[in-house]
Amino acid sequence: METVRCNREKCESYSCYTHIDNIGYICDDCEIEFKDHLYREHKNLSTNEDIVKELKIFMETQKSEFPIEDLKIEEFFNENRV
Ligand SMILES: [Zn+2]
Repeated sequence: METVRCNREKCESYSCYTHIDNIGYICDDCEIEFKDHLYREHKNLSTNEDIVKELKIFMETQKSEFPIEDLKIEEFFNENRV
């Protein structure tokens, strides 16, 4: 498995399993945080271009600029995976 650092500002994570063109690597934490951010903002991105545009802005924000209070829900489902 490759260990590459996340491209997000100030993110030190190396658990990146996703690479997006024009964006770079994104770690699992940032991916969750990005989704969480979209839910909060009630953003419904319907095209890949919209997602990339939004993700580009997000990647320039610092980690935990949008604190995740709802992470428990991710934990809950992860704990109950079969
Ligand atoms: Zn990251």
